[in-house]
Amino acid sequence: MYDAVYTGKLSGNGKYTKKCQHFFEEKYGFKKTLLTTSCTDALEMCAILLDIKPGDEVIIPSYTFVSTAIAFIRQGAKVIFADSERDTPNLDVTKLEALITDKTKVIVPVHYAGVAVDMDPIMELASKYNLFVVEDAAQAIDSFYKGRPLGTIGHLSAFSFHETKNIIAGEGGLLGINDERFVERAEIIWEKGTNRASFFRGEVNKYGWVDIGSSFLPSETTAAFLYAQLENINDIQLKRISLWNSYFDKLKPLKDKISLPEIPSYATCNAHMFFIVCNSIEERNRLIQTLKDNGIYSVFHYLSLHKSQYYLEHFSERPVLEEADKYTDRLLRLPMFYELAEVDLIKITNCILDFYDV
Ligand SMILES: *Cc1c(COP(=O)(O)O)cnc(C)c1O
Repeated sequence: MYDAVYTGKLSGNGKYTKKCQHFFEEKYGFKKTLLTTSCTDALEMCAILLDIKPGDEVIIPSYTFVSTAIAFIRQGAKVIFADSERDTPNLDVTKLEALITDKTKVIVPVHYAGVAVDMDPIMELASKYNLFVVEDAAQAIDSFYKGRPLGTIGHLSAFSFHETKNIIAGEGGLLGINDERFVERAEIIWEKGTNRASFFRGEVNKYGWVDIGSSFLPSETTAAFLYAQLENINDIQLKRISLWNSYFDKLKPLKDKISLPEIPSYATCNAHMFFIVCNSIEERNRLIQTLKDNGIYSVFHYLSLHKSQYYLEHFSERPVLEEADKYTDRLLRLPMFYELAEVDLIKITNCILDFYDV
């Protein structure tokens, strides 16, 4: 960051932006990546790149963050909500085909907690119905599906470096491009609708306005901060995974009383979060209070988007999504951050074991 400041290049697409992009392209094998100011922005770029227009339908899980929906709704799309699986909050691919109509344009799987959605059936549906797949990989850095890095499977993908994620830059994101057809236009949209990126490479001798776009580039100070994190990604991941494993081991005696996270055989766990699923909303509220009384801060997560105020006010459909509702009511996230000490983790798990009389 010091270097970015003192070399006098603070705006975007400089040395550290290129280093970060190169890191992702080399380590995970993306065709091209572009650093963005957030994952939300990267998803908005996807919606622009895919020419989403009013009337188009985009299938997303209901149990997700608002950004997955608004990026497409801003372009006029209608979101169609998919239910979660029984055993994970990820969208249930077995119920997906029934949601596809002749207006469907995109499927957006969200790798919840960094655990892969079953991608092969989604990619098969996409080629059968001629759809695009955008992976919301906001939580999914350094996680894999059948050995393939998440974010490299769909046509496009979006990552987040928000301070709540594994690898952080305060606010920041990344657009992953796996389909070569999108590379050139993505750079233009990224640079306010200009062909400035190809000018810098000497491909054109002046640059100008050629398309729509916005200022999707983060500054070099953000990129430099991010690059320092990326240099330490192995340490960060080892620490988080060891915390995750401790939680799992210590809470295993509860496996017949509550639900512990399930990692399907095709997926890896990048220890983005550790959650449990209680038996009822009342039980979850009591547990949150008990933890709080012991100085432990635990939080639930999404209110399924099909039950959100915005959706209810703007759309007339009332889908019944029981699994998404279940996670809305009963999922509880336990403290998970790099600095979390093992002694504190034991205090947390003991408190939960006591709560369930185990
Ligand atoms: C965090 C998150 C986002 C948004 O990321 P920002 O970088 O804050 O825009 C989008 N989708 C999911 C699933 C997330 O967890």
